[in-house]
Amino acid sequence: MKPLSELELWLVVGSQDLYGEQAVRQVERHAHEVAASLDADPAVPVRVVGKGVVANADAIRAVALEANAAPGCVGVLAWMHTFSPAKMWIAGLATLQKPLAHLHTQFNRDLPWSEIDMDFMNLNQSAHGDRELGYLETRMGLRRKTVVGHWRDPGVVARIGTWARAACGWHEAQNLSVARFGDNMRHVAVTEGDKVELQIRLGASVDGYGVDVLGAAVGEVADGAVDQLVADYADTYDVAPELHRGGERHGSLRDAARIELGLRALLEDGGFGAFTDTFEDLDGLKQLPGIAAQRLMADGYGFGAEGDWKTAVLVRIAKVMSAGLPGGTSFMEDYTYHLAPEGTKVLGAHMLEVCPTITSDRPSCEFHPLSIGGREDPVRLVFTAAPGPAVVVGLLDLGDRLRLVLNEVDTVVPDEDLPVLPVARAVWQPRPDLATAAEAWLTAGGPHHTAYCQAVGVEAFADLAEIAGIELVVVDADTSTRRFQQELRWNDAYFRLAGTRR
Ligand code: MN
Repeated sequence: MKPLSELELWLVVGSQDLYGEQAVRQVERHAHEVAASLDADPAVPVRVVGKGVVANADAIRAVALEANAAPGCVGVLAWMHTFSPAKMWIAGLATLQKPLAHLHTQFNRDLPWSEIDMDFMNLNQSAHGDRELGYLETRMGLRRKTVVGHWRDPGVVARIGTWARAACGWHEAQNLSVARFGDNMRHVAVTEGDKVELQIRLGASVDGYGVDVLGAAVGEVADGAVDQLVADYADTYDVAPELHRGGERHGSLRDAARIELGLRALLEDGGFGAFTDTFEDLDGLKQLPGIAAQRLMADGYGFGAEGDWKTAVLVRIAKVMSAGLPGGTSFMEDYTYHLAPEGTKVLGAHMLEVCPTITSDRPSCEFHPLSIGGREDPVRLVFTAAPGPAVVVGLLDLGDRLRLVLNEVDTVVPDEDLPVLPVARAVWQPRPDLATAAEAWLTAGGPHHTAYCQAVGVEAFADLAEIAGIELVVVDADTSTRRFQQELRWNDAYFRLAGTRR
Protein backbone atom coordinates (compact mmCIF):
# COMPACT_ATOMS: atom_id res chain seq x y z
CA MET A 1 0.00 0.00 0.00
CA LYS A 2 1.31 3.45 -0.86
CA PRO A 3 1.93 5.73 2.13
CA LEU A 4 -0.65 8.49 2.54
CA SER A 5 2.19 11.04 2.57
CA GLU A 6 2.23 10.78 -1.23
CA LEU A 7 -1.24 12.37 -1.30
CA GLU A 8 -2.14 16.03 -0.82
CA LEU A 9 -4.71 18.20 0.89
CA TRP A 10 -4.89 21.71 -0.52
CA LEU A 11 -5.46 24.70 1.75
CA VAL A 12 -7.27 27.45 -0.15
CA VAL A 13 -7.67 30.77 1.67
CA GLY A 14 -10.34 33.23 0.68
CA SER A 15 -10.13 37.01 0.63
CA GLN A 16 -11.07 39.88 -1.68
CA ASP A 17 -9.26 42.76 -3.37
CA LEU A 18 -11.07 45.39 -1.30
CA TYR A 19 -8.41 45.48 1.41
CA GLY A 20 -5.48 46.46 -0.80
CA GLU A 21 -2.34 44.62 -1.82
CA GLN A 22 -0.60 44.90 1.54
CA ALA A 23 -3.43 43.21 3.44
CA VAL A 24 -3.70 40.40 0.88
CA ARG A 25 0.07 39.82 1.15
CA GLN A 26 -0.30 39.50 4.92
CA VAL A 27 -3.13 36.98 4.44
CA GLU A 28 -0.85 35.12 2.03
CA ARG A 29 1.91 34.86 4.66
CA HIS A 30 -0.56 33.60 7.24
CA ALA A 31 -1.98 31.07 4.78
CA HIS A 32 1.46 29.62 4.14
CA GLU A 33 2.26 29.47 7.84
CA VAL A 34 -0.97 27.58 8.58
CA ALA A 35 -0.39 25.18 5.67
CA ALA A 36 3.21 24.54 6.77
CA SER A 37 2.14 23.92 10.35
CA LEU A 38 -0.56 21.41 9.31
CA ASP A 39 1.86 19.81 6.86
CA ALA A 40 4.46 19.27 9.59
CA ASP A 41 1.95 17.81 12.06
CA PRO A 42 2.04 13.98 12.15
CA ALA A 43 -1.68 13.93 12.98
CA VAL A 44 -2.32 14.90 9.35
CA PRO A 45 -1.17 11.89 7.31
CA VAL A 46 -1.07 13.64 3.91
CA ARG A 47 0.98 16.55 2.58
CA VAL A 48 -0.79 19.87 3.20
CA VAL A 49 -0.12 22.18 0.27
CA GLY A 50 -0.83 25.89 0.64
CA LYS A 51 -2.47 27.11 -2.59
CA GLY A 52 -2.30 30.72 -1.45
CA VAL A 53 -5.03 33.33 -1.40
CA VAL A 54 -7.89 33.54 -3.84
CA ALA A 55 -9.57 36.95 -4.06
CA ASN A 56 -11.86 36.78 -7.09
CA ALA A 57 -14.16 34.36 -8.90
CA ASP A 58 -11.69 33.48 -11.66
CA ALA A 59 -8.97 32.54 -9.18
CA ILE A 60 -11.42 30.41 -7.14
CA ARG A 61 -12.66 28.55 -10.20
CA ALA A 62 -9.10 28.07 -11.44
CA VAL A 63 -7.96 26.43 -8.21
CA ALA A 64 -11.04 24.16 -8.21
CA LEU A 65 -10.27 23.01 -11.75
CA GLU A 66 -6.62 22.48 -10.79
CA ALA A 67 -7.69 20.37 -7.78
CA ASN A 68 -10.00 18.26 -9.96
CA ALA A 69 -7.18 17.53 -12.36
CA ALA A 70 -4.47 16.87 -9.77
CA PRO A 71 -4.22 13.08 -9.29
CA GLY A 72 -2.60 13.41 -5.85
CA CYS A 73 -5.08 15.95 -4.43
CA VAL A 74 -7.56 14.13 -2.17
CA GLY A 75 -9.44 17.19 -0.98
CA VAL A 76 -9.68 20.94 -0.48
CA LEU A 77 -9.66 22.72 2.86
CA ALA A 78 -11.20 26.20 2.61
CA TRP A 79 -10.71 29.02 5.10
CA MET A 80 -11.94 32.62 4.80
CA HIS A 81 -9.22 34.62 6.53
CA THR A 82 -11.02 37.83 5.67
CA PHE A 83 -14.45 38.39 4.25
CA SER A 84 -14.67 36.84 0.77
CA PRO A 85 -18.06 37.57 -0.81
CA ALA A 86 -19.44 34.14 -1.51
CA LYS A 87 -21.07 34.84 -4.88
CA MET A 88 -17.44 34.74 -6.04
CA TRP A 89 -17.33 31.10 -4.85
CA ILE A 90 -20.40 29.79 -6.71
CA ALA A 91 -18.67 28.90 -9.97
CA GLY A 92 -15.65 27.38 -8.22
CA LEU A 93 -17.62 25.30 -5.74
CA ALA A 94 -20.00 24.15 -8.48
CA THR A 95 -16.92 22.96 -10.36
CA LEU A 96 -15.10 21.29 -7.50
CA GLN A 97 -15.27 17.49 -7.66
CA LYS A 98 -12.84 16.77 -4.82
CA PRO A 99 -14.02 16.43 -1.18
CA LEU A 100 -14.44 19.73 0.63
CA ALA A 101 -13.77 20.64 4.25
CA HIS A 102 -14.30 24.05 5.77
CA LEU A 103 -11.66 25.08 8.30
CA HIS A 104 -13.18 27.77 10.50
CA THR A 105 -10.12 29.14 12.21
CA GLN A 106 -8.37 32.45 12.86
CA PHE A 107 -4.67 33.24 12.57
CA ASN A 108 -4.49 34.84 16.02
CA ARG A 109 -5.60 32.61 18.80
CA ASP A 110 -6.03 35.44 21.29
CA LEU A 111 -7.58 38.84 20.94
CA PRO A 112 -4.84 41.47 21.40
CA TRP A 113 -7.07 43.29 23.87
CA SER A 114 -4.89 46.34 24.51
CA GLU A 115 -3.80 46.80 20.88
CA ILE A 116 -6.74 45.78 18.79
CA ASP A 117 -7.66 48.40 16.18
CA MET A 118 -9.67 48.52 12.98
CA ASP A 119 -6.77 47.22 10.83
CA PHE A 120 -6.62 44.07 12.98
CA MET A 121 -10.40 43.75 12.76
CA ASN A 122 -10.32 43.97 8.96
CA LEU A 123 -7.54 41.44 8.60
CA ASN A 124 -9.00 38.81 10.96
CA GLN A 125 -12.62 38.44 9.94
CA SER A 126 -13.13 34.71 9.62
CA ALA A 127 -15.77 34.90 12.36
CA HIS A 128 -18.07 36.43 9.76
CA GLY A 129 -16.14 35.60 6.57
CA ASP A 130 -16.60 31.88 7.16
CA ARG A 131 -20.28 32.41 7.91
CA GLU A 132 -20.65 33.88 4.43
CA LEU A 133 -19.09 30.77 2.90
CA GLY A 134 -21.09 28.45 5.18
CA TYR A 135 -24.29 30.09 3.96
CA LEU A 136 -23.34 29.46 0.36
CA GLU A 137 -22.24 25.87 0.98
CA THR A 138 -25.57 25.14 2.63
CA ARG A 139 -27.51 27.02 -0.03
CA MET A 140 -25.75 24.93 -2.71
CA GLY A 141 -26.34 21.73 -0.73
CA LEU A 142 -22.64 20.92 -0.62
CA ARG A 143 -21.56 18.00 1.52
CA ARG A 144 -18.55 18.94 3.62
CA LYS A 145 -16.95 18.71 7.03
CA THR A 146 -16.70 21.86 9.13
CA VAL A 147 -13.81 22.04 11.61
CA VAL A 148 -13.80 24.87 14.17
CA GLY A 149 -10.98 26.10 16.38
CA HIS A 150 -7.44 27.46 16.37
CA TRP A 151 -5.23 25.77 13.76
CA ARG A 152 -2.56 24.85 16.31
CA ASP A 153 -5.08 23.18 18.66
CA PRO A 154 -4.31 19.43 18.62
CA GLY A 155 -8.03 18.60 18.62
CA VAL A 156 -8.56 20.72 15.52
CA VAL A 157 -5.56 19.20 13.77
CA ALA A 158 -6.77 15.70 14.70
CA ARG A 159 -10.17 16.35 13.11
CA ILE A 160 -8.48 17.60 9.93
CA GLY A 161 -6.27 14.50 10.00
CA THR A 162 -9.25 12.18 10.35
CA TRP A 163 -11.05 13.90 7.50
CA ALA A 164 -7.89 13.63 5.40
CA ARG A 165 -7.89 9.87 6.09
CA ALA A 166 -11.52 9.63 4.94
CA ALA A 167 -10.64 11.64 1.83
CA CYS A 168 -7.80 9.19 1.16
CA GLY A 169 -10.26 6.30 1.56
CA TRP A 170 -12.57 7.98 -0.92
CA HIS A 171 -9.67 8.65 -3.28
CA GLU A 172 -8.72 4.97 -3.07
CA ALA A 173 -12.31 3.90 -3.74
CA GLN A 174 -12.35 6.10 -6.87
CA ASN A 175 -9.40 4.14 -8.23
CA LEU A 176 -10.18 0.70 -6.81
CA SER A 177 -10.40 -2.41 -8.93
CA VAL A 178 -11.82 -5.55 -7.31
CA ALA A 179 -11.13 -9.05 -8.70
CA ARG A 180 -14.04 -11.38 -8.05
CA PHE A 181 -13.08 -15.03 -8.45
CA GLY A 182 -16.26 -16.98 -8.97
CA ASP A 183 -19.67 -15.59 -8.11
CA ASN A 184 -21.77 -15.27 -5.00
CA MET A 185 -22.35 -18.05 -2.47
CA ARG A 186 -25.48 -19.65 -3.81
CA HIS A 187 -28.80 -18.43 -2.37
CA VAL A 188 -27.21 -15.78 -0.10
CA ALA A 189 -28.95 -12.40 -0.27
CA VAL A 190 -26.90 -9.80 1.56
CA THR A 191 -23.70 -10.32 -0.41
CA GLU A 192 -25.54 -9.58 -3.66
CA GLY A 193 -26.26 -6.06 -4.82
CA ASP A 194 -25.95 -3.45 -7.51
CA LYS A 195 -22.33 -3.15 -8.64
CA VAL A 196 -23.20 -0.27 -10.93
CA GLU A 197 -24.68 1.71 -8.04
CA LEU A 198 -21.54 0.98 -6.01
CA GLN A 199 -19.35 2.26 -8.82
CA ILE A 200 -21.48 5.40 -9.22
CA ARG A 201 -21.41 6.10 -5.47
CA LEU A 202 -17.91 4.95 -4.50
CA GLY A 203 -16.02 4.54 -7.75
CA ALA A 204 -14.87 0.98 -7.16
CA SER A 205 -15.11 -1.36 -10.14
CA VAL A 206 -15.95 -4.99 -9.37
CA ASP A 207 -15.19 -7.43 -12.17
CA GLY A 208 -15.60 -11.19 -12.33
CA TYR A 209 -12.92 -13.73 -13.28
CA GLY A 210 -13.25 -17.46 -13.71
CA VAL A 211 -11.50 -19.43 -11.01
CA ASP A 212 -9.54 -21.15 -13.79
CA VAL A 213 -7.67 -17.84 -14.27
CA LEU A 214 -6.56 -18.07 -10.65
CA GLY A 215 -5.80 -21.78 -11.01
CA ALA A 216 -3.59 -21.04 -14.02
CA ALA A 217 -1.69 -18.32 -12.11
CA VAL A 218 -1.12 -20.76 -9.23
CA GLY A 219 0.11 -23.37 -11.70
CA GLU A 220 2.78 -21.00 -13.00
CA VAL A 221 4.44 -20.47 -9.61
CA ALA A 222 8.06 -21.69 -9.55
CA ASP A 223 9.12 -24.28 -6.95
CA GLY A 224 11.95 -22.02 -5.77
CA ALA A 225 9.47 -19.28 -4.87
CA VAL A 226 7.44 -21.80 -2.88
CA ASP A 227 10.61 -22.88 -1.01
CA GLN A 228 11.31 -19.25 -0.10
CA LEU A 229 7.78 -18.50 1.07
CA VAL A 230 7.58 -21.66 3.17
CA ALA A 231 10.81 -20.53 4.85
CA ASP A 232 9.26 -17.09 5.46
CA TYR A 233 6.24 -18.74 7.10
CA ALA A 234 8.57 -20.63 9.45
CA ASP A 235 10.32 -17.35 10.41
CA THR A 236 7.11 -15.40 10.94
CA TYR A 237 4.72 -17.88 12.56
CA ASP A 238 4.70 -20.83 14.91
CA VAL A 239 4.26 -23.45 12.23
CA ALA A 240 2.63 -26.70 13.40
CA PRO A 241 5.09 -29.65 13.42
CA GLU A 242 3.07 -31.64 10.87
CA LEU A 243 3.50 -28.77 8.38
CA HIS A 244 7.30 -28.60 8.73
CA ARG A 245 9.63 -29.99 6.09
CA GLY A 246 9.52 -33.76 6.56
CA GLY A 247 6.19 -33.47 8.40
CA GLU A 248 3.15 -35.43 7.32
CA ARG A 249 1.34 -32.32 6.00
CA HIS A 250 4.25 -30.37 4.55
CA GLY A 251 2.74 -30.78 1.08
CA SER A 252 -0.36 -28.87 2.23
CA LEU A 253 1.81 -25.97 3.41
CA ARG A 254 3.53 -25.89 0.02
CA ASP A 255 0.15 -25.94 -1.74
CA ALA A 256 -1.01 -23.02 0.43
CA ALA A 257 2.17 -21.06 -0.34
CA ARG A 258 1.73 -21.72 -4.04
CA ILE A 259 -1.84 -20.39 -3.89
CA GLU A 260 -0.63 -17.24 -2.11
CA LEU A 261 2.08 -16.63 -4.72
CA GLY A 262 -0.24 -17.19 -7.67
CA LEU A 263 -3.00 -15.03 -6.21
CA ARG A 264 -0.55 -12.27 -5.30
CA ALA A 265 0.99 -12.25 -8.79
CA LEU A 266 -2.43 -12.06 -10.40
CA LEU A 267 -3.56 -9.19 -8.15
CA GLU A 268 -0.31 -7.27 -8.70
CA ASP A 269 -0.32 -7.74 -12.47
CA GLY A 270 -3.93 -6.62 -12.73
CA GLY A 271 -3.56 -3.62 -10.42
CA PHE A 272 -6.25 -4.93 -8.08
CA GLY A 273 -6.68 -3.59 -4.53
CA ALA A 274 -9.24 -6.14 -3.33
CA PHE A 275 -10.61 -9.56 -4.18
CA THR A 276 -13.28 -12.10 -3.35
CA ASP A 277 -13.50 -15.86 -3.62
CA THR A 278 -16.07 -18.48 -2.77
CA PHE A 279 -15.73 -22.00 -1.37
CA GLU A 280 -18.37 -23.16 -3.86
CA ASP A 281 -16.14 -22.49 -6.84
CA LEU A 282 -12.55 -23.62 -6.37
CA ASP A 283 -11.83 -25.34 -9.69
CA GLY A 284 -8.08 -25.67 -10.15
CA LEU A 285 -7.26 -24.86 -6.51
CA LYS A 286 -6.27 -27.56 -4.05
CA GLN A 287 -7.45 -25.57 -1.00
CA LEU A 288 -9.75 -22.68 -0.22
CA PRO A 289 -7.28 -19.76 0.13
CA GLY A 290 -6.76 -19.38 3.89
CA ILE A 291 -3.32 -18.15 4.85
CA ALA A 292 -3.15 -16.53 1.39
CA ALA A 293 -6.21 -14.37 2.03
CA GLN A 294 -4.97 -13.58 5.54
CA ARG A 295 -1.52 -12.45 4.43
CA LEU A 296 -2.80 -10.49 1.43
CA MET A 297 -5.15 -8.63 3.77
CA ALA A 298 -2.18 -7.92 6.04
CA ASP A 299 -0.45 -6.34 3.05
CA GLY A 300 -3.41 -4.02 2.50
CA TYR A 301 -5.70 -5.91 0.13
CA GLY A 302 -9.43 -5.79 0.73
CA PHE A 303 -11.09 -9.19 0.97
CA GLY A 304 -14.59 -10.61 1.05
CA ALA A 305 -15.46 -14.29 1.35
CA GLU A 306 -18.37 -15.99 -0.43
CA GLY A 307 -18.21 -13.45 -3.25
CA ASP A 308 -18.81 -10.52 -0.90
CA TRP A 309 -17.48 -7.66 -3.03
CA LYS A 310 -19.07 -4.91 -0.89
CA THR A 311 -17.14 -6.00 2.20
CA ALA A 312 -13.97 -6.43 0.11
CA VAL A 313 -14.28 -2.78 -0.95
CA LEU A 314 -14.99 -1.68 2.62
CA VAL A 315 -12.00 -3.59 4.05
CA ARG A 316 -9.71 -1.98 1.46
CA ILE A 317 -11.05 1.52 2.23
CA ALA A 318 -10.67 0.89 5.98
CA LYS A 319 -7.08 -0.23 5.44
CA VAL A 320 -6.25 2.91 3.49
CA MET A 321 -7.94 5.16 6.07
CA SER A 322 -5.96 3.38 8.82
CA ALA A 323 -2.56 3.50 7.10
CA GLY A 324 0.30 4.22 9.49
CA LEU A 325 -1.84 4.03 12.65
CA PRO A 326 -1.50 1.40 15.36
CA GLY A 327 -4.16 -1.32 15.20
CA GLY A 328 -5.35 -3.52 12.38
CA THR A 329 -8.30 -4.05 10.07
CA SER A 330 -9.87 -7.31 8.95
CA PHE A 331 -12.68 -8.98 7.13
CA MET A 332 -14.91 -10.26 9.95
CA GLU A 333 -18.15 -12.11 10.62
CA ASP A 334 -20.34 -12.15 13.71
CA TYR A 335 -20.05 -15.89 14.23
CA THR A 336 -21.49 -16.97 17.56
CA TYR A 337 -22.57 -15.49 20.93
CA HIS A 338 -21.85 -15.75 24.63
CA LEU A 339 -25.28 -14.95 26.08
CA ALA A 340 -24.45 -15.35 29.78
CA PRO A 341 -26.26 -12.56 31.64
CA GLU A 342 -23.15 -11.39 33.50
CA GLY A 343 -21.34 -10.45 30.29
CA THR A 344 -22.76 -11.00 26.81
CA LYS A 345 -20.19 -11.15 24.02
CA VAL A 346 -19.77 -11.78 20.30
CA LEU A 347 -17.21 -14.23 19.01
CA GLY A 348 -16.19 -12.89 15.61
CA ALA A 349 -14.29 -15.11 13.18
CA HIS A 350 -14.57 -16.71 9.78
CA MET A 351 -13.90 -20.13 8.33
CA LEU A 352 -10.29 -19.03 7.70
CA GLU A 353 -9.92 -15.48 6.51
CA VAL A 354 -9.17 -13.11 9.39
CA CYS A 355 -6.31 -10.62 8.99
CA PRO A 356 -3.34 -10.99 11.39
CA THR A 357 -2.91 -7.19 11.70
CA ILE A 358 -5.54 -7.29 14.48
CA THR A 359 -3.41 -9.35 16.87
CA SER A 360 -0.31 -8.44 18.83
CA ASP A 361 0.53 -12.14 19.28
CA ARG A 362 2.67 -14.27 16.99
CA PRO A 363 0.10 -16.26 14.96
CA SER A 364 0.36 -20.00 14.71
CA CYS A 365 0.19 -21.62 11.29
CA GLU A 366 -2.06 -24.67 11.46
CA PHE A 367 -3.75 -27.32 9.38
CA HIS A 368 -7.28 -28.47 10.15
CA PRO A 369 -10.14 -30.07 8.28
CA LEU A 370 -12.70 -27.86 6.53
CA SER A 371 -15.95 -29.64 5.92
CA ILE A 372 -17.16 -27.40 3.10
CA GLY A 373 -15.73 -26.60 -0.30
CA GLY A 374 -14.93 -30.16 -1.35
CA ARG A 375 -11.17 -29.56 -1.55
CA GLU A 376 -8.16 -30.59 0.47
CA ASP A 377 -7.93 -29.23 3.99
CA PRO A 378 -6.55 -25.69 4.14
CA VAL A 379 -3.69 -24.06 6.03
CA ARG A 380 -4.60 -21.02 8.11
CA LEU A 381 -3.19 -18.63 10.70
CA VAL A 382 -4.75 -18.88 14.16
CA PHE A 383 -4.63 -16.06 16.72
CA THR A 384 -6.79 -13.91 18.99
CA ALA A 385 -7.44 -10.19 18.35
CA ALA A 386 -5.83 -7.70 20.73
CA PRO A 387 -8.17 -6.21 23.34
CA GLY A 388 -9.27 -2.58 23.01
CA PRO A 389 -11.85 -0.41 21.27
CA ALA A 390 -12.78 -1.17 17.67
CA VAL A 391 -15.61 -0.70 15.21
CA VAL A 392 -17.40 -3.23 13.03
CA VAL A 393 -18.80 -1.73 9.84
CA GLY A 394 -21.13 -3.29 7.30
CA LEU A 395 -22.10 -2.05 3.84
CA LEU A 396 -25.49 -3.13 2.50
CA ASP A 397 -27.50 -2.52 -0.63
CA LEU A 398 -31.10 -1.52 0.12
CA GLY A 399 -32.11 -1.67 -3.52
CA ASP A 400 -32.45 2.08 -3.88
CA ARG A 401 -29.25 3.04 -2.02
CA LEU A 402 -26.24 1.90 -0.04
CA ARG A 403 -26.16 2.02 3.76
CA LEU A 404 -23.25 1.77 6.17
CA VAL A 405 -23.96 0.37 9.62
CA LEU A 406 -21.32 0.84 12.31
CA ASN A 407 -21.14 -0.56 15.83
CA GLU A 408 -18.59 0.62 18.37
CA VAL A 409 -17.33 -2.41 20.29
CA ASP A 410 -14.83 -3.24 22.99
CA THR A 411 -12.66 -6.20 22.14
CA VAL A 412 -11.83 -8.22 25.23
CA VAL A 413 -9.60 -11.08 26.27
CA PRO A 414 -11.68 -14.26 25.89
CA ASP A 415 -13.04 -15.57 29.21
CA GLU A 416 -11.14 -18.82 28.70
CA ASP A 417 -8.61 -20.31 26.32
CA LEU A 418 -10.01 -21.69 23.07
CA PRO A 419 -7.70 -24.68 22.61
CA VAL A 420 -9.63 -26.50 19.90
CA LEU A 421 -11.01 -23.56 17.91
CA PRO A 422 -9.13 -23.86 14.60
CA VAL A 423 -9.64 -20.28 13.35
CA ALA A 424 -8.51 -16.74 14.17
CA ARG A 425 -11.00 -14.83 16.28
CA ALA A 426 -11.94 -11.62 18.05
CA VAL A 427 -14.17 -11.53 21.12
CA TRP A 428 -15.99 -8.26 21.75
CA GLN A 429 -18.71 -6.57 23.74
CA PRO A 430 -20.85 -4.37 21.50
CA ARG A 431 -21.88 -0.93 22.77
CA PRO A 432 -24.21 -0.20 24.41
CA ASP A 433 -24.84 -3.93 25.02
CA LEU A 434 -25.26 -6.99 22.84
CA ALA A 435 -29.05 -7.04 22.90
CA THR A 436 -29.50 -3.37 21.96
CA ALA A 437 -26.69 -3.45 19.39
CA ALA A 438 -27.90 -6.62 17.70
CA GLU A 439 -31.50 -5.38 17.67
CA ALA A 440 -30.37 -2.14 16.04
CA TRP A 441 -28.12 -4.02 13.58
CA LEU A 442 -30.93 -6.34 12.50
CA THR A 443 -33.39 -3.45 12.27
CA ALA A 444 -30.97 -1.62 9.98
CA GLY A 445 -30.57 -4.76 7.85
CA GLY A 446 -26.85 -4.88 8.65
CA PRO A 447 -24.88 -7.73 7.05
CA HIS A 448 -23.13 -10.61 8.80
CA HIS A 449 -19.84 -9.77 7.07
CA THR A 450 -18.09 -6.62 8.24
CA ALA A 451 -14.86 -4.68 8.23
CA TYR A 452 -13.47 -4.86 11.77
CA CYS A 453 -11.23 -1.88 12.44
CA GLN A 454 -9.11 -0.99 15.46
CA ALA A 455 -7.27 2.00 13.96
CA VAL A 456 -9.97 4.51 12.97
CA GLY A 457 -13.44 4.91 14.42
CA VAL A 458 -16.82 6.47 13.88
CA GLU A 459 -15.53 9.92 12.87
CA ALA A 460 -13.53 8.60 9.90
CA PHE A 461 -16.45 6.49 8.64
CA ALA A 462 -18.86 9.40 9.16
CA ASP A 463 -16.54 11.65 7.15
CA LEU A 464 -16.35 8.99 4.43
CA ALA A 465 -20.15 8.65 4.30
CA GLU A 466 -20.51 12.43 4.05
CA ILE A 467 -17.98 12.63 1.22
CA ALA A 468 -19.67 9.75 -0.64
CA GLY A 469 -23.23 10.93 0.06
CA ILE A 470 -24.25 7.55 1.45
CA GLU A 471 -26.14 6.76 4.63
CA LEU A 472 -24.36 5.86 7.86
CA VAL A 473 -26.16 4.70 10.99
CA VAL A 474 -24.13 4.35 14.16
CA VAL A 475 -24.76 2.00 17.08
CA ASP A 476 -22.80 3.24 20.09
CA ALA A 477 -23.02 3.81 23.84
CA ASP A 478 -25.87 6.32 23.33
CA THR A 479 -28.06 4.13 21.12
CA SER A 480 -31.64 3.61 22.20
CA THR A 481 -33.81 1.23 20.21
CA ARG A 482 -36.74 3.56 19.73
CA ARG A 483 -34.65 6.53 18.57
CA PHE A 484 -32.64 4.28 16.26
CA GLN A 485 -35.82 2.96 14.60
CA GLN A 486 -37.01 6.54 14.11
CA GLU A 487 -33.65 7.52 12.62
CA LEU A 488 -33.97 4.72 10.06
CA ARG A 489 -37.44 5.94 9.10
CA TRP A 490 -36.31 9.57 8.83
CA ASN A 491 -33.34 8.50 6.75
CA ASP A 492 -35.61 6.53 4.42
CA ALA A 493 -37.62 9.71 3.85
CA TYR A 494 -34.52 11.87 3.46
CA PHE A 495 -32.74 9.65 0.95
CA ARG A 496 -35.87 9.23 -1.14
CA LEU A 497 -36.47 12.98 -1.18
CA ALA A 498 -32.82 13.76 -1.89
CA GLY A 499 -32.78 11.24 -4.76
CA THR A 500 -29.74 11.51 -6.97
CA ARG A 501 -28.86 15.00 -5.66
CA ARG A 502 -27.39 13.57 -2.48
MN1 MN B 1 -19.04 -15.75 5.68
